[in-house]
Amino acid sequence: MTDGNNNTTVLIQPVLQDDKNKTTTPTNPFSEIVSKQKEYFNTNATKDIGFRIEQLKKIRALLRANESKLYEAIYNDFSKSEFETYATELAVLYHEINLNIKNIKKWSNRKRVTTGLANFPGKSFIIPEPLGNILVIGPWNYPIHLTLMPAVAALAAGNPVLLKTSELPANTSAVIAQLINDNFSKELFCVVEGGVQETTALLELHFDKIFFTGSVPVGKIIYQAAAKNLTPVTLELGGKSPAIIMADCNINISVKRLVWAKFINGGQTCVAPDYVLVEKTIEEKFLLALQIEIEKYHPDTDESRENYLQIINTKNFDRLEKLIDRDRVYLGGRTNREKRYISPTVLKDVSFEEEIMQEEIFGPILPVLSFTNLDTAIRKIKTKPKPLACYIYSKNKRTVNKVLNEVSFGGGAVNDSVMHLSNSNLPFGGVGFSGIGSYHGKAGFDTFSHQKSIMQKPFGFEPNLKYPPYSKLKMNLIKWLIE
Ligand code: NAD
Repeated sequence: MTDGNNNTTVLIQPVLQDDKNKTTTPTNPFSEIVSKQKEYFNTNATKDIGFRIEQLKKIRALLRANESKLYEAIYNDFSKSEFETYATELAVLYHEINLNIKNIKKWSNRKRVTTGLANFPGKSFIIPEPLGNILVIGPWNYPIHLTLMPAVAALAAGNPVLLKTSELPANTSAVIAQLINDNFSKELFCVVEGGVQETTALLELHFDKIFFTGSVPVGKIIYQAAAKNLTPVTLELGGKSPAIIMADCNINISVKRLVWAKFINGGQTCVAPDYVLVEKTIEEKFLLALQIEIEKYHPDTDESRENYLQIINTKNFDRLEKLIDRDRVYLGGRTNREKRYISPTVLKDVSFEEEIMQEEIFGPILPVLSFTNLDTAIRKIKTKPKPLACYIYSKNKRTVNKVLNEVSFGGGAVNDSVMHLSNSNLPFGGVGFSGIGSYHGKAGFDTFSHQKSIMQKPFGFEPNLKYPPYSKLKMNLIKWLIE
């Protein structure tokens, strides 16, 4: 496994296990830690609400005390500004921690539900119980937020967590590993750094839940590995998220919001608008507004990276550069391989059949396609797998509702893009190829909880209705009671 920061990598000696509830692969380097987390969970220590709140406060304090280290690490990985790091990584995380601290007690309470006459005089309730040892596998694009946010939800719900960070933002991964591994007992919360090899080894072991954020192809690998143990998964994946711009929208406001959402984090955002579908009648006006807005924030002559990010690595830079069809460039298209810089790029007159429309772009290239008929545009969107997000910009209620009703997607926004994920009252997740399950706020707590359903009866009274001998009268009574 990688040792991003020398002493922070979790090194575990292989051990043999004889308990079938524990891990079984003798040579697996993570057997011991996974067994320890299972044992720890079985002590019930994580079920105490006060204990859980304490852990979340500890994470919050660690983040606060080490913000400058995190800013520096993120800058070294992406050349991302402090402002953007705070806004897109830390602010949302602090909010989620605070929300969980405030609500753990309420969310973990038993909930009474009605019982029905057939079970009179019983009572029924649901107990949200922690699932057990959790594996969280993170992506590279928001390496603090997308690793610690699910970890916080899992801990809040009372589970021990093993977090596997992405190997690509090596500096940030090393800081997270150091902060967590130096301050938490590894039975409760531990970070493993590494890539395919480490993840493959982890996937051989038994977890009570796997929470994965990343690409569709790797999501399939995770799902298959989890199936061997019937381990439930949450898969937070990607896809081609469209933004539909109708002629009746406010162009300037729409473009302002769209440009921010597309080019923040250098376009490396899972819910960034992947492509634009604009009504033909306003295409020229829209393109012009795009140009003005982009040039305002990202002058194409300037590669100083105050407000604009690098591409994460050369492999991704090369992949993205190949997607820029020079005949289609309306704006931008300037690249610098050494600096892994791609200027915000707009492509026009693109069709659904072109290469750039086949896979998620995940970079600062925005193809613009025009349409004359919304039904046709919707049909085209539906030829692709269900996207993680969809955005509709229009003042017309019927148009908005048509898109919301007819297109299936994870979540989205009307007259805005990306910002839906900042509202923790909205469960965040995909559908179909863009993912399974959701999190954020209460949805996150529920994702890491099992809803244990209980019916409780007193000893005092037991009607004979369900017992033989059966009779016509009993039959009629049971019909009346149950139906
Ligand atoms: P990725 O799938 O390449 O990697 C994700 C994780 O899987 C990393 O920790 C990596 O080490 C591990 N991994 C990679 N290959 C593996 C393999 N063969 N076997 C086992 N593990 C493996 O994804 P990424 O490049 O880090 O992130 C980009 C993708 O993630 C995009 O598709 C994006 O849309 C998606 N994403 C989704 C969300 C969301 O919330 N839905 C958020 C961010 C990114």
